Amino acid sequence: MATRRIVTLPGDGIGPEVMRPAEVVLAALGDFAFDERMIGGVSIDAHGIALTDEVLEACRRSEAVLLAAVGGPRWDTTDPAAPRPEQGLLGLRKGLELFANLRPVRPSPALIDASPLRPERIAGTDLLVVRELTGGIYFGDSGRRATADGEGEEAWDTCLYSTPEIERIAEVAFRFARRKVTSVDKANVLESSRLWRKTVERVAAGYPEMPLEHLLVDNAAMQLVARPSDFDVIVTENLFGDILSDEAAMITGSIGLLPSASVGAGGPGLFEPVHGSAPDIAGSGRANPLAMFGSVAMMLRYGLDMEPEAARLESAIDGALEAGLRTPDLGGGAGTEEATRAILERL
Ligand code: NAD
Repeated sequence: MATRRIVTLPGDGIGPEVMRPAEVVLAALGDFAFDERMIGGVSIDAHGIALTDEVLEACRRSEAVLLAAVGGPRWDTTDPAAPRPEQGLLGLRKGLELFANLRPVRPSPALIDASPLRPERIAGTDLLVVRELTGGIYFGDSGRRATADGEGEEAWDTCLYSTPEIERIAEVAFRFARRKVTSVDKANVLESSRLWRKTVERVAAGYPEMPLEHLLVDNAAMQLVARPSDFDVIVTENLFGDILSDEAAMITGSIGLLPSASVGAGGPGLFEPVHGSAPDIAGSGRANPLAMFGSVAMMLRYGLDMEPEAARLESAIDGALEAGLRTPDLGGGAGTEEATRAILERL
């Protein structure tokens, strides 16, 4: 089989600590060529910006992009003109036209007690958050200026969505749905949400077999912890999806376990763990690599059409957890290396 070409973006903090094990695991599964590039804070230090055109071009030429995490206190700033690590992620999503972020939430049976929610609440949860990724308030017009009275400052961020942007993300949601689609908005307050709801309903008409429900985002936040197993696909806009997918993360008990994928209309997809660069534990050897391994599995499945290898990796992860593997974020003592060994032994 031909060598698969992957761009790896380790980034900052624990990023490189979980990317190295990911490469080791991939090498055990097939023939991969890794083109390692900079993104985020390390790129700001080296080039003054979080994502260079050269790196974006390398990503475009690859078959898939594997990213660990970016950011850290070193690059935190309130100066609006200063480069920020997250600009690398936004640039990558925009540059690769990745408009759909997929975040599966399927708590491992072995970890049901690690969740802060009661086991009977989470049992059977198997949901997918489909978050719109390239529109809305994160990309709308924003700015800051002195107030009219000159006493202070005022700032604004604009949430803008067009019909085609909503249609294509709704299509993704219906394509992946097995039982129903829950569309989350704030249509009682926001005009952009009213267009969202109307457009999702129009797309739903093309899927008459698939039930559609609407939830206001505040209610969705409550229902997600009250009855998570009732959800199948949750589709929502960028900002609401950002918050709800982190809330959904807690159902699994640890953000160190959640993978994600971002896909577009063609071209390479981006595969990354949901967690950030965890500066509080960086360098300690305590980072849980399982979310990264889960992201590798999603890359194999959705990005490289390597389903058998994806399934092998996922069952190795489940098997290791069932055999008692616990990293510190799961209340155990296994470090990154031990966790990696446990997976490799099962591959
Ligand atoms: P975070 O996800 O980095 O950390 C939140 C908490 O979870 C921390 O206590 C951390 O130690 C823990 N944690 C995260 N990943 C873990 C892992 N693999 N194993 C064990 N524990 C883990 O979120 P944060 O603290 O809000 O952000 C830290 C930095 O990361 C910030 O600069 C933020 O901007 C950035 N960030 C980046 C991404 C990304 O690259 N996609 C996502 C979120 C945050």
